Amino acid sequence: MPHALRRCLACASPSLVERVALHDARTGTRSVALGLVQCARCGHVQLPASAERDRALHTIAADVTPSRPAAAMDAWLSAQRTLPKSGESKLLVDVGSSKGEMLLAASRIGWRVCGVEPAAELAQAANAAGAPSICAYFDESVAREIRERYGSGARAIVATNVIANVEQLDEFLGAAGTALDESGVLIVETQYLRDTIEGVMLDTIHHDHLSYFSAESLGAALGRAGFGIVDIERVPAKGGSLRAAARLGVGHGEKHAALVAEERRAGLRDAEYFAPFSRTLQQCASELDRLLGSQAYERVAGYGSSIGCGTVIAQFALEGRLEFLVDESIGEGREDRAFGLRVLSAGELVRSAPEAVVVLAWRFADQIATKTREYLEGGGAFIVPLREVHVIGRKGSAV
Ligand SMILES: [Zn+2]
Repeated sequence: MPHALRRCLACASPSLVERVALHDARTGTRSVALGLVQCARCGHVQLPASAERDRALHTIAADVTPSRPAAAMDAWLSAQRTLPKSGESKLLVDVGSSKGEMLLAASRIGWRVCGVEPAAELAQAANAAGAPSICAYFDESVAREIRERYGSGARAIVATNVIANVEQLDEFLGAAGTALDESGVLIVETQYLRDTIEGVMLDTIHHDHLSYFSAESLGAALGRAGFGIVDIERVPAKGGSLRAAARLGVGHGEKHAALVAEERRAGLRDAEYFAPFSRTLQQCASELDRLLGSQAYERVAGYGSSIGCGTVIAQFALEGRLEFLVDESIGEGREDRAFGLRVLSAGELVRSAPEAVVVLAWRFADQIATKTREYLEGGGAFIVPLREVHVIGRKGSAV
């Protein structure tokens, strides 16, 4: 069962203050408390409660993140400049290595590689493809196993879209320190708090996404584990992320200090910083409610069934209003379930032709509209709920 988070995930302080209040969301049969709280000491923003490590949930999350291998590759290529020139080790470790795509590419240019992947079927696929992978959550014992197996520490560890999902952050970063060579580099990429809040990316807030890092709080967490951030930048991945390279036994560098200074100027530590996010949600919720009511739609579906779509459903009180969900990842003639609703294929959307579809995956609304012209041309309408409620199709803009 989820339990109340009593201490900051990044610095262990018990002083946590609420910044964003959200309705609880449903995951399968469970209800999960959502919202954001901020640590008064280090400024780290996180969920108010954290689900216990759940292998089934993580397996699903890993399986539905096709962008991860590409992001890992991108992070790895960009991080080359931070790698030490000297040092014997040519071992690269990818944490959350999926099917080993990045490892295979690195091994082709002479790296020894090791993946760590908790989802069994992904780790098996990686091993079968020739990318040696340990099926486990990354922790101290895995770090020691890697050192033993390869006879040295890693020259680089890549963790892309991983640390935000880690509950035992100190243990995870401590293990990275154990697995790294003395001069090795830890490369992390994680969604950036500023992009989440300023972009009102409601759908990035969900039960599996425990931490919402700022440069400051990432520095606090890495600093506690003995790391200094030697390079950090904002990258567009996942709607806006931070990519950082960290080394043991050094202090944080100038680029980190510059980002933290920008965060101070933007007021990331203040309650007011989060107010426009909550205000936009409230405005969109009432506008959506008014629109659905005034049009008297009898049949409304939702587009998107990923984990973050559950947050959108809960926040906009759509549970009783949606007849079914549509997801293009569902094969023709197949059916799945999410948030207590049936999930059908894009083809079924055309055949079933609901009067309107709320685009839960709202950031991709334009792409979705392009892919589903047939539904729109047949008289359908897409209602995009964020950041301003608008309609694509029948009663709104031309397609
Ligand atoms: Zn803290």
